[in-house]
Amino acid sequence: MIPKETVSQIIETARIDEVVGEWVNLKKRGANMLGLCPFHNEKSPSFTVSPAKGIYKCFGCGEAGGSVNFVMAHEQYSYPEALKFLANKYNIEIEEEEQTPEQVLEANAKESLFIVSDFASNYFHDQLINSENGRAIGLSYFKERGFKDETIEKFKLGYSHDEWTNFTDAALENGYNLDFLGKTGLTIVKEDKKFDRFKGRVMFPIQNISGRIIGFGGRTLKADKNVAKYLNSPESDIYHKSRVLYGLNLAKKSIISLDRCFLVEGYTDVISMHQNGIENVVSSSGTSLTTDQIRLIKRYTQNITILFDGDTAGIKAAFRGVDMILEEGLNVRVLAFPDGEDPDSYAKSHSTDEIKEFLDKKSFDFIRFKTNLLLEETGDDPIKRAGLIKEIVSSIALIPDPIARSVYLQECSNLMDIGEQALLSELNKIRRNKLTKKIQQQERDQGRDEGPPPEFFHEIGLPDEGERKGVVNVIAEQEKDIIRTFVKYGTIEIDIPTNPDAAKEEQEFIKATVAEYLVYEIEKDELRFDNPVFNKVYSLYKVASEKETQVEEKHLVTNEDKEISSFTIECLMEKYTLSLNWAEKHKISTLTEDLILPKKIHKGICSWRLNKVEQLIDEKQQQLKVKDADYGVILIDIMKLMEAKKKLAHELGRIILH
Ligand code: ATP
Ligand code: MN
Repeated sequence: MIPKETVSQIIETARIDEVVGEWVNLKKRGANMLGLCPFHNEKSPSFTVSPAKGIYKCFGCGEAGGSVNFVMAHEQYSYPEALKFLANKYNIEIEEEEQTPEQVLEANAKESLFIVSDFASNYFHDQLINSENGRAIGLSYFKERGFKDETIEKFKLGYSHDEWTNFTDAALENGYNLDFLGKTGLTIVKEDKKFDRFKGRVMFPIQNISGRIIGFGGRTLKADKNVAKYLNSPESDIYHKSRVLYGLNLAKKSIISLDRCFLVEGYTDVISMHQNGIENVVSSSGTSLTTDQIRLIKRYTQNITILFDGDTAGIKAAFRGVDMILEEGLNVRVLAFPDGEDPDSYAKSHSTDEIKEFLDKKSFDFIRFKTNLLLEETGDDPIKRAGLIKEIVSSIALIPDPIARSVYLQECSNLMDIGEQALLSELNKIRRNKLTKKIQQQERDQGRDEGPPPEFFHEIGLPDEGERKGVVNVIAEQEKDIIRTFVKYGTIEIDIPTNPDAAKEEQEFIKATVAEYLVYEIEKDELRFDNPVFNKVYSLYKVASEKETQVEEKHLVTNEDKEISSFTIECLMEKYTLSLNWAEKHKISTLTEDLILPKKIHKGICSWRLNKVEQLIDEKQQQLKVKDADYGVILIDIMKLMEAKKKLAHELGRIILH
């Protein structure tokens, strides 16, 4: 736990423009600064930073937050990791607070796995460089593969001796705990026996996004077909295969600046490409591509090129990868290497310029790739051709963006020489089928039951389905408005009439902030928000009001809870980018002078409450639909609610007229 004071100190010190400026080129634009958003691909800048408020927001993709959020999003750090990063940047010392024994144990256990993995990586690397066998066997193997010294350093490659317990013994001698050696999978522990998992292999340490070692891949140096060529660390508390990309920590800068990521098969491909000057390369390690891995890439670029060797297994994997990438809304290109070549071998035998040109010229968008490949098989056979078209259209149907879909459809139409209209109806059929299945599933999940017919409700004077849906939308808007009022005007002091019905001359007032008044009104009726984010924001104000303190904007926009910070930043950005002068100088002063603000607040709460009552009536109505419902009891409840509704409507009318 980092102490609260240190957290505030970090947040105070870490100037948003300096932090963002480390990765984004910012230009001054009035009170704000503007740059190209690092979270999505854009040609004209819509990424806005407000140094005065300490926040950023991209008007293109919606990413928003304070300094800490930025570091979290950009570097994929957790909240404490981001704080530590900033503390380090600004030379702020962190004295960690005492934790509960469970927290200590848990944090320590995870930390211990990191530490053991780090020791292992150093040990394997040291043995590769400095031990006799390591040099003779491991190092000479890497040299034969063409890896240079600096490459071996950069990737911290290593060697694990061909002995049963060489590594485990060294680790134990150095005081590392067998329990953690077992949990990282470095040592296989069986009853009273223990031995090295990676015996006799050259080692490829796997790093997470911040560069810490989380697992290993090991390649055997034996020609024996019965020995697995590659072996990977098992899953552990720090190594989740499906959420890791090999090389990403070294590639991310280059991925951002080149706005493209190359996806290759394995360790050696990544390393050889790096050695040849191409650094925007990653691979999955020990799994086939997962959606989580695609989302990792998506943080840095929208453009992925899959590189694979052109054998059948490779093609199959590429097909699957293409569909998954499309489904995530990214652009995908594909490059098949000529027979017998892979990125590793190709990079070894060609110059950087040749590789770059090859990657550029020989990669195709997925439609061309599929067409080129499949056309060879189908030839002129019309039935096979129809199958191919269907195959391509079903890939296009996965793309979430309608405009991208239609662009690809057009390309497919040109390429396959078939009318766009025919393709479109095929595509719509596929999407419709998918949608129907989804809805059917949802209905099955909810276990819907038929209730009384709509006429029944009309007869007893209740709204029908359409009207009820309208009410739900209205409530959502009203809730948003109330929270907006908190965030934008919460600290403003207003005069609240103690008796709104009294004549103007006789009125008495008490002073309160907008936030205090709102909390009072909301608590009076014990209202709660339907939207959980709003409830979270509201409870901050409620707590502050109980303690007679104020919620500071900083606390909102830098909130650890991303949902809170995103929403409040959205509100504040409205205020500061669009209507700075108007809202602050003009509107607010007249609002307070003319008592419009208290009235507005009262009215807002009242009509919200009215709609809530209608919602309750609706809920009761739904209960009537349930088989064996107690109609009598429910109808009495409904009558009571209708009564309350009438009163509220009356009060609302009075406020409006007043
Ligand atoms: P060779 O020298 O025979 O070409 P290699 O070490 O280059 O062997 P390849 O079979 O060419 O390995 O595979 C390329 C990449 O694919 C490897 O670097 C590795 O990361 C990955 N790979 C291959 N087989 C496996 C496996 N069984 N498990 C995990 N990764 C593998
Ligand atoms: Mn190979």
